[in-house]
Amino acid sequence: MTLTTLQEIDRDSVIASYARFPVEFVRGEGSRLWDEEGNEYLDFLCGISVTSLGHCHPRVVAAVREQVGQLMHTSNLFYTEPAVRLAERLSKSSLGGKVYFCNSGAEANEAAIKLARKAKPGGDVVVVHGAFHGRTYGALSATPQESKQAPFAPLVPGFKAVAPTTEALSAAIDERTALVLLEPIQGETGVHVLSEGLLRHARRACDASGAALVFDEIQCGMGRTGTLWAYEQTDVVPDAITSAKALGGGLPIGALITGPRLADVFVPGDHGSTFAGGPVVAAAALAALEVTSDAALLARVRQAGAFLQARLGELPHVISVRGVGLMLACELDSSAPETMSRALLEERLIVNATGPTTIRLLPPLNASDEELKDSLARLARALAG
Ligand code: PLP
Repeated sequence: MTLTTLQEIDRDSVIASYARFPVEFVRGEGSRLWDEEGNEYLDFLCGISVTSLGHCHPRVVAAVREQVGQLMHTSNLFYTEPAVRLAERLSKSSLGGKVYFCNSGAEANEAAIKLARKAKPGGDVVVVHGAFHGRTYGALSATPQESKQAPFAPLVPGFKAVAPTTEALSAAIDERTALVLLEPIQGETGVHVLSEGLLRHARRACDASGAALVFDEIQCGMGRTGTLWAYEQTDVVPDAITSAKALGGGLPIGALITGPRLADVFVPGDHGSTFAGGPVVAAAALAALEVTSDAALLARVRQAGAFLQARLGELPHVISVRGVGLMLACELDSSAPETMSRALLEERLIVNATGPTTIRLLPPLNASDEELKDSLARLARALAG
């Protein structure tokens, strides 16, 4: 089927909730994707921080192949080994509590919101401007962006959005607060790092009010910043984290991972999802977690991130670069080519523009030196216009 035919059928048959580029991908391997005409692309977006180990990582593929021929689904009425092993490993790798599985990032945040409200009935949820926590009603209510929320009002009550400052957080968090939900690094709105001071302040305010502090590590977790979890680069320990995206090595799985304090808030019947933590996605996630936990890979992320950050700053029109590890954004001056997105596509480099002057890069954690340099050359050509 040609791309034109595909686009016509898509237009007639698929609800138009995505603005797509005019490209069809048919194959992926490592940092590369191939379109239907055989053109090769360098993927430095990783399906928005999902294929962080590269496309079709052999360890993930092998784990899925083995599991898919053995057992695909049982429901959560029964035990299956991959999910239990994954929960144990996730807990040991982070907060030492327990894990609730789901199928996506939004659902992981839904679980966090429900859990925190059960722990403190009727309590408020505090979030900060610039956050993105997902599109389902609870997650959307925690995503203070007018364009995303307004068409879907009324939202879930009891959500407060404040500026990401210590003063605003102090004013918002009180004895009625059940949950403070923060992305340590805000991804969708253009890679904005919340300062360690702000996270520390949120921790103190939550301790004083009895609110749960949950970090949304859906985009910044799973090795993206050069430690398995982003919070490890601070001295702040949240009460829980949410994970998804790269967790499944390319397959859909999400998780709410608690510390001991919140581990036993849910009891049977409180929450659930038919597909959650199924054997195939859990096997994929176990393989992805094993590969990502490797100290040498995480050190490589820090080194590659420092290299890219320095070199991106030397490109034409780039006025600043921000981010941690391999979660990076370049801010461009206003004379950067308006057709940049098209130029990047012509250069066959996949990155994305989170705003008119912001380019976000989420390269594979294991991208080679050659691929890093290649991405810079392609970006330089696209920016030169
Ligand atoms: N939280 C963060 C930080 C995200 O970046 C995203 C997705 O971009 C989500 C939540 C929602 O995840 P999902 O699209 O899997 O529902």
